[in-house]
Amino acid sequence: MNAEGLSINLATVREQWNLGEAVEACAKLGIKAIDPWRDQVTKFGLDNSAKVIRDHGMQVTGYCRGGMFTAVDAKGRAAAIGENKRAIDEAQTLGAECLVLVVGGVPQGSTDIIGARTQVAEGINAILDHARAAKMPLAIEPLHPMYAADRACVNTIKQALDIAVQLGSDVGVAIDTYHVWWDPELKEQIERAGREKRIFGHHICDWLVPTKDMLLDRGMMGDGIIDFKGFRSMIEAAGFHGPQEVEIFSAADWWKRPGEEVLKTCIERYNKLCK
Ligand code: ZN
Repeated sequence: MNAEGLSINLATVREQWNLGEAVEACAKLGIKAIDPWRDQVTKFGLDNSAKVIRDHGMQVTGYCRGGMFTAVDAKGRAAAIGENKRAIDEAQTLGAECLVLVVGGVPQGSTDIIGARTQVAEGINAILDHARAAKMPLAIEPLHPMYAADRACVNTIKQALDIAVQLGSDVGVAIDTYHVWWDPELKEQIERAGREKRIFGHHICDWLVPTKDMLLDRGMMGDGIIDFKGFRSMIEAAGFHGPQEVEIFSAADWWKRPGEEVLKTCIERYNKLCK
């Protein structure tokens, strides 16, 4: 099986394996790129994680995640900035190509989404010097609007790019099929992201019909309604040729299957449907 050009976001096998086991399982199947989550790295240990990644020559297509900049008060926002700086340092230790930012929703008790979006831009701005010193690009990941309240009030590539442009060339976007497939401006905004050299990641998983859980029912490519080849051709036309990163949260299905079956299915579907 050829896994060239495929990356595995380790959330996809988080219930089956710890970070070390997951990296070894990926390497065994010829998968050469991963994206770990902070809690997985914390559990396995930062130095151990960096070592197992290095020992297997893994490319780290991103580090999940920073963000969550929005908060009811200044103290909460300052805490988020400290947390993001630590995430940047970890990403650097792991050799990640970018820190993925899930920016945060509307603070609890607030009804001010416009203010929340301002907080996001200010939050990213506040970590920019730290990111630059670490040479760590920041990838804003727009999330599907169903998460605007509780996870990310940045919901389209356009919104993410509008923020990135204000901040500098080292702020870009992670484009996840699951979150943006529905966007009527998808093609134009991917082209724009390419022109501005701001595509830092391409995540893939499918949108199931029906979707039974807002967070934990993402689909394997081919099981839903997304045109992955069409999507990828837009991304490549925009100049991004990095790995496609499978990121599936699936409490009722893929998290319950043996990890090796999940990875093999990722490779098969990726080869058949995504390139
Ligand atoms: Zn993603």
